[in-house]
Formats: sequence, C-alpha cells, structure tokens
Amino acid sequence: MERVYNFSPGPSMLALPVLERAQKELLCYGDTGMSVMEMSHRSKMYTDIYDRAVADLRELMAIPEDYEVLFLQGGATQQFSAIPLNLMVNGKADYIDSGNFAHLAAEEAKRYGEVNIVASSREDTYTYIPDWRKGTFTPDADYVHITSNNTIYGTRYVELPETEAPLVTDASSMILSEVMDVTKFGVIYAGAQKNIGPSGLCVVIVRKELLGQAKAICPKLLNWEVQAKAGSMYNTPNTYGIYLAGLTFQWLKDMGGVAEMEKINIEKAALLYDFLDNSALFKPTAQREFRSRMNVTFVTGDPDKDAAFVKAAAAQGLVNLKGHRTVGGMRASIYNAMPREGVVKLVNFMKQFEAEKA
Ligand SMILES: *Cc1c(COP(=O)(O)O)cnc(C)c1O
Repeated sequence: MERVYNFSPGPSMLALPVLERAQKELLCYGDTGMSVMEMSHRSKMYTDIYDRAVADLRELMAIPEDYEVLFLQGGATQQFSAIPLNLMVNGKADYIDSGNFAHLAAEEAKRYGEVNIVASSREDTYTYIPDWRKGTFTPDADYVHITSNNTIYGTRYVELPETEAPLVTDASSMILSEVMDVTKFGVIYAGAQKNIGPSGLCVVIVRKELLGQAKAICPKLLNWEVQAKAGSMYNTPNTYGIYLAGLTFQWLKDMGGVAEMEKINIEKAALLYDFLDNSALFKPTAQREFRSRMNVTFVTGDPDKDAAFVKAAAAQGLVNLKGHRTVGGMRASIYNAMPREGVVKLVNFMKQFEAEKA
C-alpha cells in the first residue's frame, strides 16, 4: 500500500525522512547495539539524543538562554492544569477564548483561581479571533493565556495582545510553522502530535524568572521548576517520542529552518484559500483576516455533499478531511510535514469534484 496524503489534525503526518531514519535505526541506534526504546534515559547514549533535541529546538526557534526548554508528558492538555499550578501567585488569570482548546484551558484554570475571559468568539462558533482590545485585562493577573492557532476552527492570531502580565500561549498547532519571537512570551507550550512528533509529548518553553512560584499543591511532575532541575527527567520521560521530535528538528534544519518553512506554509495555504475563494461549491469558514495556515476549514453548505466529498477524496489517497465533530464540514490540516504536492493534489481533486457536483 502506498502512503497517503494525511490531512489529519493530529496525530498527523510526520516527515518521510524522519520515519525512514527511525526505521533504519529502529533495531540498532548507531553503534549502541540497541533500539532507542531500550536505552536507559540516564545513559550517555540517550542523554546525547536528548541534549541534541534541546539544542536543535533552541537553534530553530532562537530560544534565549533565559528560557528553559522542557519535554513533558501528558500532551498540551496536561499543561492546562500545570499553567495555573505554576503561575497563579495572585490567584488570577486572563484568558482569551478563541476556540475549543482555549475554552478547555480556561475551564481547567478555574479549578485553581479566578479566571477572567477578556474576549470570546464562542457565540459565533469561533470563526474569528475575538477583539481583546475591547476587553478588560486584570491589572494584577498572573498571566494572560491565548491559543496562537485554533486547530478546530482554522483561525490564527495575526497580532499578539500587548500585556503587562506574562503572555502564555498554546502553540500546539503552529509551533515551528512560522517564526515566533520567543521573547514576547512567558510560556510557549505545544503538544507534539501536530508539528513535532508523536502524541503524548509536550514541549514547554518557559522564561526562567517564572519558575519557583508553583502552588504547594502542584504535583511534582507538573512543577516546571522541578522538571527544569531534573532536565525533564523527574521520572522516565517519553524517550522515544523525544528521539522522534529530535529527528524532526534535524529535518527542519535540513529544510532551511523555520523561516523557510514559513514561506512554504504561506504558499501551501494560499493554494487552498485562493481556490476556495473562487469556488462555486466550497466556502471557507474562518474570517479572512484570521485564516490559519495550518488548518483550513471549509464547507459546501450541504452535509450530504460534504460527506460525499470526504469519502471520494479518501478513495484518491487524500484522507482525514472530515471537519471536527462540533463544526462539521471539512478541514485540511497542512502542517510542516504535508508536502506542497499533497496540497496541489487536493486542490486538483476539489476542482474535479466541483465540476461534477456544482
Ligand atoms: C491538539 C491540541 C491540544 C490537545 O493536545 P493533547 O496533546 O491531546 O493534550 C491542545 N491545544 C491545541 C491548540 C491543540 O491543537
């Protein structure tokens, strides 16, 4: 069976060179005589893999020395709890509600303190990034939480709020897809299964001065300071996931780095949106100004046609185009690992489907 173009929102495609390298090294990594999965996380052979992954991520994102890089477990969702547990010194935080994950993050934080929703687009099915300029930020908030890219609705922040309090972002579905100025953030966190590697892993980039304020009830495993001191190894980390993440970082460097990926991603997204804007059958659903470059959402307006399209596309090797169960329609997730050819093939198929069905 040939590999398909997988438009899944996550877990999603991994770059082919990454998978091939992992396959080559599966039974025996270098001259170690064993698989990475079989290595002690404390062994030199493994800590070399770990250190290289951290160093490559630092280089790719130009992460300054005053930030820690952690590879933690529990995905991005675990951090919905870790964030208030580590940062809520005054017991107050501001959240911008721009999507389902943003909403879940705020709901979880409410268990630990006061949560102020500065702005929300929930009433409008999250088709845009709500205008925080009209909202009121809490003067002594411990942090402001945003979601840089809304995976389900296909929207992205085009401009960051200027905040007094440290800005915390869930970058799960956009990390490494475009250049980010890390210094604008107190914390950047991202579940790995969109742009980094397999699921279960979460990258947390945190400004060092924010460490050391965790609540007494904060579980040790969720305590960033504890994990920073332990080099993300307070307990056994997701060793193989970190290895695969490291291979992805090496691949990104080979591709020319994040700025180069950003160019390709802008081009890939434009191919789809240009077609959608001129289509007689398909309509994009996110407001133009906030369109995501990673998750492109669209509908025909007829659920039967949507279903027929998803099925026909799958038969052509264009799989997982069904929209999220809460919004319906279609979603093409085109993360870093989706090659341009996959997007071209999708657009060509949409043209053909439209000619037959419109
Ligand atoms: C996928 C995703 C999550 C959830 O990630 P898990 O690893 O399943 O916890 C959270 N936030 C955003 C923006 C996502 O895209």
